[in-house]
Amino acid sequence: MDRRTLLRTAALSGIALGGMALGAGSAAAVTVPTITGCDTWGARPPADPLTVLPHKPVRILVHHTDTPNSTDYSQAHAYALARSIQNHHMDDNHWSDTGQHFTNTRGGFLLEGRHNSLSTLRGGAEIVRAAHCPGQNDIAIGIENEGNYMAVAPPAKLWDSLVTLCAYVCHQYSISPTAIQGHRDYYNTDCPGDVLYTMLPQLRSDVAAKLGGQS
Ligand SMILES: [Zn+2]
Repeated sequence: MDRRTLLRTAALSGIALGGMALGAGSAAAVTVPTITGCDTWGARPPADPLTVLPHKPVRILVHHTDTPNSTDYSQAHAYALARSIQNHHMDDNHWSDTGQHFTNTRGGFLLEGRHNSLSTLRGGAEIVRAAHCPGQNDIAIGIENEGNYMAVAPPAKLWDSLVTLCAYVCHQYSISPTAIQGHRDYYNTDCPGDVLYTMLPQLRSDVAAKLGGQS
């Protein structure tokens, strides 16, 4: 039994595997990923009040952090990365808080970026205004992937957690996997790197498979 079949079976029988299985009673099942909230990784409070918008996002934008391709795959490293990004965005960019909604590490850890991103995702009806791509911050969920993918592909753990997170975001907000795009599609930037960008069709396909059992 492959994992997809296992998840679908789990949903139909009401068994939770590594988290809650959503979609019981239908053919599709999406695992609720573990996402570490701001309080757990040690975020600072936002510098200004944040805005929660009463609508769903319409797409996902994939980014890379353009930080070193670290071989420290630990949780401690993931938390430190989240704090480092927040410090950079608040102290150097003078933003209210972390720019992106979520951070995904090379060790496969998923973390909340901007405060309120996790609670609004769980609710499935709102988006917190972010700062990850001009023109897209009110309508696109931004996911920062640790590393630089101009010349190399991301490690398998990062890929797997990215697929899982995207599937959950698509499920919660009724976003089609075809609406997963790259930062460069909406802004003059190399982000998310040439290699990761060319992998976006595979990402859409993998997410679709997780959502609907088809590739
Ligand atoms: Zn970007």
